[in-house]
Amino acid sequence: MSAVPVTVVAPRAVGPRLEIDPAAIAANTRLLAGRATGDLMAVVKADGFGHGAVTVARTALANGATSLGVTSIAEGLALREAGLRAPVLSWLNPVDADFATAVDNDLDLAVPSAAHLETILRTAPGARVHLHLDTGLARDGAEPTAWARLCRTARRAEQAGRLRVVGVMGHLACADEPDHPANAAGRTRFAWGVETARAAGLRPVVRHLAATSATLTDPRSHHTAVRVGAGLVGIDPSGTTALTWAMTLTAPVVSVRRVRGGTPVGYGHTWTTRRATTLALLPLGYADGLPRAVSGRAEVLLRGRRWPVVGRVSMDQVVVDVGDEPVLAGETATLLGPGDAGEPTPADWAAWADTLPHEVVTGFGPRVARTTAISSLRGVR
Ligand SMILES: *Cc1c(COP(=O)(O)O)cnc(C)c1O
Repeated sequence: MSAVPVTVVAPRAVGPRLEIDPAAIAANTRLLAGRATGDLMAVVKADGFGHGAVTVARTALANGATSLGVTSIAEGLALREAGLRAPVLSWLNPVDADFATAVDNDLDLAVPSAAHLETILRTAPGARVHLHLDTGLARDGAEPTAWARLCRTARRAEQAGRLRVVGVMGHLACADEPDHPANAAGRTRFAWGVETARAAGLRPVVRHLAATSATLTDPRSHHTAVRVGAGLVGIDPSGTTALTWAMTLTAPVVSVRRVRGGTPVGYGHTWTTRRATTLALLPLGYADGLPRAVSGRAEVLLRGRRWPVVGRVSMDQVVVDVGDEPVLAGETATLLGPGDAGEPTPADWAAWADTLPHEVVTGFGPRVARTTAISSLRGVR
């Protein structure tokens, strides 16, 4: 067999498209930085909440953020590869993660346990770390019973010149409900954690507890920095503030068909036309991030009007009932966006799927082409 040379030409992005609007991210960042009493760390985990980590990071840094936060070291290294030089904190790593590469690339590391601290000291001397206290989720961060000892061990290592403790972090479980008693408990435990660190001789200059909700609703939790992710892309879990959605998802109409009343549509025949109507096919489905749970609930915008998604959401396609509207193949449907033109927002999709907008915006798959709104690129490097 001889190898056949094949030239693959990148196709034009004619399928589903996700357009990101840096101007919206810029406006959200300015608003949130204005509310924070200290610095703003832009959290760009999960590919910048589905909006592109580098786009969100650059835009946020140009509009008031002074550092970046991610979960994994790999996410932090991707920011460095893109040329971003701002401080980056990575806070969620297995105990055998490649801390040496992280430190070589100037990433700060959160330390949630003695085992993490031990590995970092052994494999990544000179690390800059933020000790992470569990302030009420029983999830990540050191348990209060382990905190004093963690602080003392870190202090001894610091005195031996083996690492620097630059920060202490916590996280609130119920900040989206500002009156929830867990918020006061979390603030109290965090204050105790900082005092305990100081008593051990540590001088953590970056102290951070609040995320988007507490940034918007609770200045008592701000300390020296807030970690904001959702708010940058328009999500306000506290429901108190008008932020701007930063993504628009469109898809072309692949085909249209006129059908009679009584025509069942899609897998399982879960829906049947009541009268003669026109059905438009869109080429994206649950593999592309449209939750299957929206079957029978979702709507899309076409020709300036909302039309229902009918039948089941398939892996790769959905059907829209456009009634007697003379929609043509090749026209563009808007599935979600800021809502300015009447299109649904990520919050609408979240309600239809009985989930959070966070899950909607982080869910779009690799078959959806990403583009950046050119009109809003001014001012973003
Ligand atoms: C995701 C995350 C944040 C950001 O929270 P938002 O509510 O999205 O602003 C902050 N801190 C930690 C530990 C997180 O996991």
